[in-house]
Amino acid sequence: MGKKIGIKETADCLKNTDSVIITAHVSPDGDAIGSTLALCAYMRGIGKKADVVIDDELPRSMSFLPGYDDILRPEDYKGSAGMLVIVDTDSSRIGGVAEIANGLPILNIDHHISNNGLADYIFVEKSAAAAEMVYEILTELKAELTPEIAFPLYTGLATDTGFFKFSNTRSSTMRAAAALIDAGALPHVVSEALEAKPVEMVRGQMEALQTMELTAGGRVAGLFLDRELMERLESTEGFIDMVRVIEGVDVAVLIKCVDENVCRVSMRSKGLDVSKVAGEFDGGGHIRAAGCTLKMPLAEAKKAVLDAIERALEA
Ligand code: 5GP
Ligand code: MN
Repeated sequence: MGKKIGIKETADCLKNTDSVIITAHVSPDGDAIGSTLALCAYMRGIGKKADVVIDDELPRSMSFLPGYDDILRPEDYKGSAGMLVIVDTDSSRIGGVAEIANGLPILNIDHHISNNGLADYIFVEKSAAAAEMVYEILTELKAELTPEIAFPLYTGLATDTGFFKFSNTRSSTMRAAAALIDAGALPHVVSEALEAKPVEMVRGQMEALQTMELTAGGRVAGLFLDRELMERLESTEGFIDMVRVIEGVDVAVLIKCVDENVCRVSMRSKGLDVSKVAGEFDGGGHIRAAGCTLKMPLAEAKKAVLDAIERALEA
């Protein structure tokens, strides 16, 4: 177990380092990309060497973010650094970045209750988003908020709160958003970029909805995307929200067959602690939003996950 630290020590950690690799989780979302880009822009702005390295494809919808084109895959990183900064996840979900940063001290900035504690310095808070934590850290550092910092951080806040709708939205989240707008973030630019989708995507949503099943007496709603459909879909962003909104549904689940015998599971809830359900399959997340990966075919994964959810609902 590493050392739990607060905001001041986190700020000192960043101040006292000359060069960093900044990373976030695989399947990066707006918070992962926004938080890492903002931190990178800040570090470069004060003359430090900083690179964002993420071991996965990036959603194209975020290509409007300043710095997006500079994000590296681990195999393309050729430098050296004095510290690895992991944002929006613990060390278990950074893929091949673990190898290129082998032996470096690790600073972990995360807002997940399931954080594994495996870093040298760990700053974990129950913030709405990692982006809110990065905003607080930059405020502690008296950073000048430029649009290069404000756009990514606003994007992180917006995506992790469902555009300031979810229960994790706090008054401090809104104050951070306000400051970021003052610093140049344009909410409509962010929402238009993130919401825009090719027509095939809307057709994909239509097909995905055909797989909808309600179980547990209507308290669980699921979408189950097989390999054939997954191969045609560029993204499944927002799919789970199509069933999350159904009256009477407590748990929404999306199961995607991403490879032969590999299924990615996403869960959203209005009450049940789905991070515990995900934990049964070595996943994790938050009480109301969690995920895991099951190494089994879709039909088996579907049965295993639905059974686990039903058991949790009955407990
Ligand atoms: P999503 O469904 O959007 O992929 O993930 C929902 C939440 O659960 C996110 O906060 C994400 O970080 C977390 N999560 C998703 N998959 C996993 C996983 O396999 N392991 C852990 N620890 N967390 C996950
Ligand atoms: Mn996050």
